[in-house]
Amino acid sequence: MITTTIFPGRYVQGYNALDLLGEESARLGSKALVVADPFVHEAILPELLPSLQRHIDTQVEKFGGECSDEEIDRLATAGQTFEAQVVIGIGGGKTLDTAKAVAYFLHLPVIVVPTIASTDAPCSALSVIYTPEGQFKRYLFLPNNPNVVLVDTRIIVKAPVRFLISGMGDALATWFEAESCQIKRAPNMTGRLGSMTAYALARLCYETLLTYGVQAVTANRAGVVSPAFEKIVEANTLLSGLGFESGGLAAAHAIHNGLTVLEPTHHYFHGEKVAIGTLASLFLTGKTPEAINEVYSFCEAVGLPTTLAEIGLKNIGDDDLMRAAEKACAPGETIFNELGDITPQSVFMALKAADAEGRRRKGF
Ligand SMILES: [Zn+2]
Repeated sequence: MITTTIFPGRYVQGYNALDLLGEESARLGSKALVVADPFVHEAILPELLPSLQRHIDTQVEKFGGECSDEEIDRLATAGQTFEAQVVIGIGGGKTLDTAKAVAYFLHLPVIVVPTIASTDAPCSALSVIYTPEGQFKRYLFLPNNPNVVLVDTRIIVKAPVRFLISGMGDALATWFEAESCQIKRAPNMTGRLGSMTAYALARLCYETLLTYGVQAVTANRAGVVSPAFEKIVEANTLLSGLGFESGGLAAAHAIHNGLTVLEPTHHYFHGEKVAIGTLASLFLTGKTPEAINEVYSFCEAVGLPTTLAEIGLKNIGDDDLMRAAEKACAPGETIFNELGDITPQSVFMALKAADAEGRRRKGF
């Protein structure tokens, strides 16, 4: 039996962690192409660049807004002309995915600096490529995870709390999906079996959410970087990332993918839809009432959706919901990493059951 576990090269997190970006960059080269969100240009770079430039030469490029082949080509050309030795991405998910892809095509190391904690994508060896118009185009599987992931919680805490909550929705799925892969001996994102390390980290991810989730939301609302806030940022970004890549995905993300065929869900964040996918997966896999109660209570306490209405599907018809269930069961989907009878019909029932339970608990 061969297991495989993958990690980012280094993970740095804390209040004012950006002060270390120059030092971390200089370990990897002497010229950096910096790809930054427009927001980062205005709010972060004026303060950051002088300290960064004490360690490394920089060329700053403003991210165009879409992680497309065209944008990747443009930035790769800029990096080549500058003779960059390292790529630094600073911003949201698409900026980081673009920086990872640019570094891959230039054969350079990459540092990613997320400015929100809304998903577990920063640590992963994956970029999602879109058309310039924003339609999903393809996954770009990268040969390596980022060399450095640097998370400054002073920046993260300034983002609206909905990002942190959504990140907890993404992280909530991690243990349930990894556990299913462990039980079924299903492969992780490398195509090989996960390790006990990955499953243990996925479990720690879930326990951290249950213990510190509510306190972290309170801290974020107050604009305070508390120990609970630090722990949840780490759970959302690192534990969830390691857990999903090396533990594996299963029903929750497949049901998320299914829900995206329904246009009203496009206005909701990845982690919000993954939370609904997780709740449905509890019914799909026949979890105990105690386990189901624990997850619903957590979602309600931190403000994650527990009903279809809360992801835009208030008046969803059975035919539309069935379309989502069918998409969740598309050939090759990770939903087949679950044990038992997985069919569009069983997924449809699980979604209806999850929604009914959410409404019952809310009193309607
Ligand atoms: Zn996810």
